[in-house]
Amino acid sequence: MRPSFPRPPEPRFVPAGEHPLWDEALATVNRDLAATLPGQHPLCLIAYPADADEDEDERVYVALADGNAHGNALQPAGSADWALWGIADAAQDTITGCLWQVWPVCTLHGLGMHLAKQSGRPVWSCAGGGRPGDPAHVRAAVGELDTVHRPHRPNRKRRKDGKGR
Ligand SMILES: [Zn+2]
Repeated sequence: MRPSFPRPPEPRFVPAGEHPLWDEALATVNRDLAATLPGQHPLCLIAYPADADEDEDERVYVALADGNAHGNALQPAGSADWALWGIADAAQDTITGCLWQVWPVCTLHGLGMHLAKQSGRPVWSCAGGGRPGDPAHVRAAVGELDTVHRPHRPNRKRRKDGKGR
């Protein structure tokens, strides 16, 4: 007889190195988080043990730093692009579900963006203004929202070191 456990199984934080594809994808998505919600701690991975009477692996979720997660468990990823898609999708679920805020938002239109694929890479896509001349558009590749939120200002550095012409 299998003993029964009255307490729900304890989740654990997943240390770096256990799932290299997910680690890399999470670092990429955390760049988008830092660029758009600077007050948030980086997202992490949290694992829940499999149900005792089911033959399955533990379930891994993208979680806030406090361990809260929302949405579905990650699906095993066979490639970096699929891992990035899965992590970005899960991050969006967790931020939306736990923080009650739309993420990420297109700063041009004020609209929540959704994942799309462009040349095989996951990108953040916005539905656009819904008017002629203001169509749906890709805002940035996942991991590159900092390039549209914090654009380079090459002049600034030049002035600082006094070598600008
Ligand atoms: Zn937009």
